[in-house]
Amino acid sequence: MPSPPIDFPDHYPCPACGARHALRPHVSSLDVNGKMAAIGICSACLVLVNIPVLVAHHDGHLSNLENQAAALETYYRVDASDTAALEGTVAANGFLINLLKDKLGDLSAKTYLDIGYGAGYSLYAATRHAGHVMGVDLADTSITSLCNALGWPPNLELQGDLAALSRPADIVVLWHTLEHIPDCPDFIAALKARIAPGAHILLQVPLLRPSSIIDLHFSFFGLASLRALFSGQGFDEVDYWFDVENDFITYMARAAIG
Ligand SMILES: [Zn+2]
Repeated sequence: MPSPPIDFPDHYPCPACGARHALRPHVSSLDVNGKMAAIGICSACLVLVNIPVLVAHHDGHLSNLENQAAALETYYRVDASDTAALEGTVAANGFLINLLKDKLGDLSAKTYLDIGYGAGYSLYAATRHAGHVMGVDLADTSITSLCNALGWPPNLELQGDLAALSRPADIVVLWHTLEHIPDCPDFIAALKARIAPGAHILLQVPLLRPSSIIDLHFSFFGLASLRALFSGQGFDEVDYWFDVENDFITYMARAAIG
């Protein structure tokens, strides 16, 4: 196997597994803006890595949290004047709840946690099915508008930090969240301290496509790298699905009991 080019930044930790000296050149791809982006692969966990974003993050040229929070405010706007449209969007986001119900049955006694809920439509939908619903994100502007328009659910808890959550979660939803995180092992370790034994995680991430190569995405997971991440953290695989129309992978895992 040829050595990586001398300037390839393989000394940075893999965002998905934390391994150092494991990143290798993989492919070049156009990003969402038609700009050339170097994509690496982690030889330890097989995740694909957005190298310019990883380098910018570690060199201090990218404030990840500020960048992500600013994007939240930019991308998620709720028009509170059109409650019928908002109800429709909440209903359309119920597919995620239906998937959970298919797998886990009735959710009314469950504590539900969504990390990186974004606009908050599926978080809002969850309040109608789960016992207690907790949302963690960097900004709550959108969900606040949504609740002001449609009513504040009494079982909804919003936090800016995992450490502030009031109770352990039975269900964790990470919907387009993992790809934004520069240090997944630390994140999953912090998450494990906040979940009940046997808790289920349901996640979705984008596959590597030009449309998903943006400066907010560190990692592009596939089945092998998701398996490496979750089995390495003591989770059992429950199921997985490919959305071939949108180029997403959806994955469900279960934490060990006890
Ligand atoms: Zn890795």
